[in-house]
Amino acid sequence: MAGPGWLAQPALGWLLSPGVFPWVALVVGLCIGSFLNVVIHRLPKMMEAEWRAECAELAGAPAPATERFNLFVPRSRCPSCGKQISALENVPVLSYLFLKGRCSGCHAKVSLKYPVVELLAGIGSAYCALRFGASLAAIAAAVFIWFTIALAFIDQETGYLPDDLTLPLVWLGLAFNVFGTFAPLQEAVIGAMAGYLSLWLVYWAFRLVTGKEGMGYGDFKMNAAVGALLGWKMLPLVILVSSIVGLFFGVLQMLAARRQWDSNFRFHFGPYLAIAGIVALFWGEPVMRWYLRGT
Ligand SMILES: [Zn+2]
Repeated sequence: MAGPGWLAQPALGWLLSPGVFPWVALVVGLCIGSFLNVVIHRLPKMMEAEWRAECAELAGAPAPATERFNLFVPRSRCPSCGKQISALENVPVLSYLFLKGRCSGCHAKVSLKYPVVELLAGIGSAYCALRFGASLAAIAAAVFIWFTIALAFIDQETGYLPDDLTLPLVWLGLAFNVFGTFAPLQEAVIGAMAGYLSLWLVYWAFRLVTGKEGMGYGDFKMNAAVGALLGWKMLPLVILVSSIVGLFFGVLQMLAARRQWDSNFRFHFGPYLAIAGIVALFWGEPVMRWYLRGT
């Protein structure tokens, strides 16, 4: 398969050969995973700081003084002792293994979440390369996986799916399908709308029946992004799989906590949508073909 023009030069072309490309994608994915850890950790804090500043402005108070804090500044530090993490201690997965999961300064335990995020991004990217070859589909699939990893972990930790991630993913899904990468553009546009509306309807039905909010608006936007990338035909499968995965983890959590169903339990739908979206991305078509043949 032909790659982007500038990479198809003979000098770099070997990087795209089927035997090499998945390994290149693995290394790139691991590094992106390292960046995703920063996004997962800092984006919610950045949103909070923004809200505080806006509230202060509305109240007519001076904006709270804060040091510059974004995805790139300041450098990462150990949350326990504040030691700056050097480049050598920041090599994806390997640093964690070499330091045996502890900070080199204070020996505090480093969360297993960091290497897990890096591995998910690395293996996910390598699989995209293996599955789709050096193509736009591989890039689109990898970008989708990176965004959903960040969204799933942020939702799990904070209960939010930031607009800064869900909305760009909707646009990216539509943009990738300008060339019909995963679905014809028409199906992608309808997919974005139907993805949002379907969960919006579930939300209001649940709210009218129980008087509670079952999910948040971020879930609708994330489902819109899934519909934009995969097209509307995949949405029933995505909702089915995310519900099954959600039920499975819900029962597991209940068993682990050995308690009754908590009526105030807030359902974090983001991680399940992420899993269902990735399942549909890779295996949706054979499942749909099998299902349509069976009816
Ligand atoms: Zn430390």
